[in-house]
Amino acid sequence: MVLQKHNNNVHVVLLPYPAQGHINPLLQFAKRLASKGVKATIATTHYTVHTINAPNVGVEAISDGFDNAGFAQAKNVQLFLTSFRTVGAQTLSQLIERFQQTTPVTCIVYDSFFPWALDVAKRHGVYGAAFFTNSAAVCNIFCRIHHGLLELPVEKEDLPLYVPGIPPLDLPDMPSFIRFPESYPDYLAMKLSQFSNLNQADFMFVNTFQALESEAVKGIQELCPAKLIGPMVPSAYLDGRIKGDKGYGASLWKPLSEECSDWLQSKPPKSVVYVSFGSMVSLSDEQIEEVALGLEQSGMYFIWVLRESEHTKLPKGYQEMIKDKGIIVTWCNQLELLEHQAIGCFVTHCGWNSTLETLSLGVPVVCLPQWADQLPDAKYLEQVWEVGVRPKEDDCGVVRKEEFVRSLKVVMEGKRSEEIRRNASKWMKLAREAVSEGGSSDKNINEFVEHLSGANVTGNLNAYSNS
Ligand code: UDP
Repeated sequence: MVLQKHNNNVHVVLLPYPAQGHINPLLQFAKRLASKGVKATIATTHYTVHTINAPNVGVEAISDGFDNAGFAQAKNVQLFLTSFRTVGAQTLSQLIERFQQTTPVTCIVYDSFFPWALDVAKRHGVYGAAFFTNSAAVCNIFCRIHHGLLELPVEKEDLPLYVPGIPPLDLPDMPSFIRFPESYPDYLAMKLSQFSNLNQADFMFVNTFQALESEAVKGIQELCPAKLIGPMVPSAYLDGRIKGDKGYGASLWKPLSEECSDWLQSKPPKSVVYVSFGSMVSLSDEQIEEVALGLEQSGMYFIWVLRESEHTKLPKGYQEMIKDKGIIVTWCNQLELLEHQAIGCFVTHCGWNSTLETLSLGVPVVCLPQWADQLPDAKYLEQVWEVGVRPKEDDCGVVRKEEFVRSLKVVMEGKRSEEIRRNASKWMKLAREAVSEGGSSDKNINEFVEHLSGANVTGNLNAYSNS
């Protein structure tokens, strides 16, 4: 379907939470919309605005009140979010007004962490669309808590927990904000606030796809009309329809991809373990040591993305110990790595973007989830999609090196690994289908664009209640 010609007067402003795992999918959505002839603008904080550079997507700064370093400057979730709500709403509003003179805004697609952005949209008489950067399963769980259909805390006798559309959840599979609600009150409040005014939003998007989460989606759609538009992974790795779209175009750290790819180039196919725990989590000293020693003892090649601040946790003399087998870098273009023929598996913290990326590129996993939604993501990777293994933690909550090596071997060698690879290839194919022309996510995006193209912006806004 060629939408390009008809959408020149549609302008979507997208507002991500200013972290890599949120900017990436919203920026990707902006690129998808731009490829369908929509004018797309990312509105982001002063300290992230220069990290974003994507052809055909505008980037404008707004303020969260901490213009030098955002959350790192605020040092407190509550303070940061409150400031973002007030200063962010004001500066977003000013941006919408500025555009009014040139290219009036049709819709604000806001990160679901910022429900206040819907009020800004309504004040300006434009559509408001909530964008969830996690799985449908996770949306389903938190939405049910918000509606009082699932009570916290979950007591031992309630286990396993049965949530419609989701396989029974035991303690290790539960998002940490549910498992230990009192330990993360601010995060839990933020997760629940996503649903506070959702019934007034015009659209609700989730970065996942129908074939991947068909059951969980039924569960969430009983409560709200979620539209699945994922996976939001650069087009070159999926359908290839967006020319030159090989990276997200947002990196809060400088990529080191040349160093990585030179080293990888010299290794046999599927022989290298790629290890990364994303942009935020920090593993305990003990866990880093177990992973480090496990990698060394496995005898496998590996490339490990480890932030500079984590390097002191490595065993003494480690770099020397692994010099023929492993390489440690502080940041890499993850997609380039996952695509590389030398990569045999991904040791991941199971962040949702990493999960979608590994599924989209057909790479098997060893799951080392640390907290939050990573725990249910790991359950799905291991038990629902069957693309990997989650090694067991001991009583201290640490995955010991022997157990870690055992899991690496299951995924990299032998009979089970063949089965896992077959499953990974199946999901890769389904991910591509979803975003290709006529695929389930592509159709949902087209419908959204068509809806906006026909929009009388000051008229009937509630697509949500009509769907
Ligand atoms: N990423 C990357 N290079 C790295 C590690 C991560 O480009 O060395 C990207 C990765 O491709 C993903 C994002 O950073 O898009 C991390 O998001 P995820 O949801 O997996 O984890 P988070 O960082 O939010 O915990």
